[in-house]
Amino acid sequence: MPFLDVRSVTKQFGGIVANADITLTVGEWEIVGLIGPNGAGKTTLFNCITGVYPVNRGQIYFQGKNITKLKTHERAALGIGRSFQNLGLVRGTTVLQNLVTAQHMTAGYSVIEGMVGAPSTFAVEKELAYKADGILEFIGLSEFRDQVIDDLPYGVLKNVELGAVLATDPQLLLLDEPSSGLSPTESDQLGDILLRLREEIGVTILMIEHHVPLVVRVCDYIYVLNFGTLLTEGLPKAVQSHPEVIAAYLGGEPAGRNGAKAPKAAGKAPARTAKGKAKTAAQTAGTTPDYESPEGQSQYVPYE
Ligand code: ATP
Repeated sequence: MPFLDVRSVTKQFGGIVANADITLTVGEWEIVGLIGPNGAGKTTLFNCITGVYPVNRGQIYFQGKNITKLKTHERAALGIGRSFQNLGLVRGTTVLQNLVTAQHMTAGYSVIEGMVGAPSTFAVEKELAYKADGILEFIGLSEFRDQVIDDLPYGVLKNVELGAVLATDPQLLLLDEPSSGLSPTESDQLGDILLRLREEIGVTILMIEHHVPLVVRVCDYIYVLNFGTLLTEGLPKAVQSHPEVIAAYLGGEPAGRNGAKAPKAAGKAPARTAKGKAKTAAQTAGTTPDYESPEGQSQYVPYE
C-alpha cells in the first residue's frame, strides 16, 4: 500500500486545468521529486494533497485512508506537513519561537495562550522548547536559536522553515522548492539533512524542486508535470536525460550524446525565455489566469 496515493486528480480554476488526471504514489520512507516548468501545476497538486483546494475529480489516500474530503487541519493532524515556496514563518519572533509556535497546533491550547505565556502553559512550553532545540541541533541551526528571524539570511530562513514543519511531527513532508535561493553549498547541506531525515527519523518526503543535482542525489523516484499533465515518471537518472523533460524545461534540444553536459550557462537561463518560453497549463487550456505566477524564482539547474 502506498504511503501517499494520488489517484486521477483533476483540479480546475474556471477554464484553467491546473492538474489533469494526475496519478502518483509515494512509498513509505521514499523521497520523491515532483518537477516541471513554471506553471506546470506542482504547487496546485500540493494544495490538493494538503486540502487547501478541493479537487474536481479523483481521490487522495494517505496511509490507506481516503483524505479527499478532509479539511487542511485534519490532514495535518494525520501527519502531513508542508513548507511553502515563499517562507511561511512568523516575522518579528525568534527562530526558537517559530519552532514552538509551529507545535501549538497540537499542544492543546491556543497559539495566543502559548505566546503570552498563560500559567497553565508553562510546563508544556518548556517541553515544546526542548523539542525545538533538538530539531535545531539536528538541522544545524542551534547558533541562530535566539535570533529574530527578520535579521537572518534567506538560506538560514529556508532551514528554519524546514525546522518549523518538522516540529509538527510530520510523517509525510511536502517541501515546495526547499533549495530555492540557496547557494550550491547550502543546497548540498540541505541534501544531507533530507537524507538524514529519512534515515534517522523515518520521514517520507515529496518535494517540488528545480535544482536537478539535488533531486538526482536524494530522490528515489521522480514525477514530471508539464501543462498540468504528467509528462513522465521514473528513476532520477532516466528522467534527467529524458529528451521531453529537457525540452519542456529549456524549450530546446536535449544535451549531446554520450553524456555530454550542457554548458554551465544553460543552467542559469530562466525557464521562460523569449525563445523557449514554456506554456502554462492555463495557456494550454486556452484561457488566461487571473494573476501572474511569480517569474524568475524557479530555474532548472541541470548540472553544477
Ligand atoms: P511554479 O513553479 O511557477 O510555482 P507550478 O508548477 O507550481 O509553477 P501552479 O502554481 O500549480 O504551477 O499553477 C498551475 C496553473 O494554475 C497556472 O496556470 C496558474 O496560473 C494556475 N493557478 C494556480 N493557482 C490558481 C488560483 N488560485 N487561481 C487561478 N489559477 C491558478
